Amino acid sequence: MDRRTIERLKEIVGPEQVATTREELLCYSFDGTGLEFPPAAVAFPGSAAEVAAIMRLAAATPFPVVPRGAGSGMTGGALPVAGGLVLAMSRLNRILEIDPDNQIAVVEPGVVTGQLREEVGRYGLAYPPDPASLKFCTIGGNIAENAGGPSAVKYGVTRDYVLGLEAVLTDGSLIRTGVRTAKGVTGYDLTRLLIGSEGTLAVITRIILRLIAAPEAKRTFLVLLDDLGPAARLVSGVLGAGLLPCTLEYLDATALGIVASSLPFPLPPAVRAMLLIEVDGERAAVAAQADRLRQLLAGREGVLDLQEATSEAEVKALWTARRAVSPAAFKLKPHKLSEDVVVPRSRIPELVAFTETLNREGGIVVFTFGHAGDGNIHVNIMLDRANPEEVARAAVAKEKLFARVIGLGGTLSGEHGIGLTKAPFLPLEFDEATMAIMRAVKDAFDPHHILNPGKIFPPAAAKKS
Ligand SMILES: Cc1cc2nc3c(=O)[nH]c(=O)nc-3n(C[C@H](O)[C@H](O)[C@H](O)COP(=O)(O)OP(=O)(O)OC[C@H]3O[C@@H](n4cnc5c(N)ncnc54)[C@H](O)[C@@H]3O)c2cc1C
Repeated sequence: MDRRTIERLKEIVGPEQVATTREELLCYSFDGTGLEFPPAAVAFPGSAAEVAAIMRLAAATPFPVVPRGAGSGMTGGALPVAGGLVLAMSRLNRILEIDPDNQIAVVEPGVVTGQLREEVGRYGLAYPPDPASLKFCTIGGNIAENAGGPSAVKYGVTRDYVLGLEAVLTDGSLIRTGVRTAKGVTGYDLTRLLIGSEGTLAVITRIILRLIAAPEAKRTFLVLLDDLGPAARLVSGVLGAGLLPCTLEYLDATALGIVASSLPFPLPPAVRAMLLIEVDGERAAVAAQADRLRQLLAGREGVLDLQEATSEAEVKALWTARRAVSPAAFKLKPHKLSEDVVVPRSRIPELVAFTETLNREGGIVVFTFGHAGDGNIHVNIMLDRANPEEVARAAVAKEKLFARVIGLGGTLSGEHGIGLTKAPFLPLEFDEATMAIMRAVKDAFDPHHILNPGKIFPPAAAKKS
């Protein structure tokens, strides 16, 4: 990027809002993958008009533009793989409106998800999507990835709470999609098209979100089991019995081991798997669900114990431990491939048995945890990128995993998106005709491929990493 272009960027957003020093650029070279791609510059726009002016400059010059929220993505979505400009959305971080009567919120994309959840809670409302990264990830990043979280089993994912969007196209024009009403089917559903588009179609600058009434009560249970197989089978058992928990998470023995010291209860040595189950709703209904859960678990295969969190402090400690699994994994190895595959719930036992085989026979540490209630299993392949043998073994494990997931009728990603790291594998899931229409959508929105190039679609000569 030449000096003239940098000067133009400074004119658009102000001289203080463009970063070009090596140290500053380094901070925007990473995301949750641990891969590194430095940008040529970072700009911090303060309005949609500034985003539009930047996009016009990028199209005319041209240079690549990569939107970025908190950089917590797990698939390289915010990495500037082709250099160019990182568009950091952190200054667009205002909650513009909370409307309790219509149960909506209007926000800018840089709002941190956890802050929004707290803020709407003051009105007796809830914004259910709860990615484990909620203390730092942004609503813009959540929409671009269609993020999910533990509550998705009952409440759905980000997509289910987005009513409308304002977004800047690559030619600098501003579009407004969707509605701020409870229903609306006018025209093509561009809102849904932009959700999960991973910053490749448009830059989201404003969001209308649907809220719900906060549930009256919630109870939190831990089911301790002697093996992963019974835990996996219990997931279908719970849902098949007509219970609809708002959390149905599991941790395997390795995941438990790395966070055991943060759990509020000591773990008996025989425990090899754990389910974290929560039920919420009206107080009486929650009590009835809790009773049914206890009945269901009595004498059930593999169940060693059922414990209930009895205080807010215990619930908090449990969630701190659950949310710490991903970062705590680095106790095992310096790097990891964080896969978030999904299989039909009835096939979870086969998938976890397969990952245990990968762990035993692949010469590499593989462990799993995740949102079992919706079949979304986080498979963590641990490695040291300085060790070429481990890199090769991890690549083989990942390929085998994806082939198996598709064979089980599953999908490559439940919430992290495709980004950079899964792009070579897209043809495993989609045939050529489907890929062609997706490419045509990309071409229509971004004819010169300046917005987040190198993401979602496999490179011409696919190099699997
Ligand atoms: C410890 C940890 C736990 C996690 N747990 C979960 C989980 O439970 N569920 C889950 O779904 N994910 C999880 N993630 C992954 C990550 O937090 C999510 O993908 C999140 O949605 C990314 O948000 P972000 O603000 O960090 O976005 P970034 O990583 O900065 O960007 C992600 C993508 O969004 C695009 N983007 C960002 N802002 C915009 C915008 N305004 N307009 C257009 N495109 C934009 C970027 O270009 C990129 O493609 C976890 C990550 C970590 C590190």
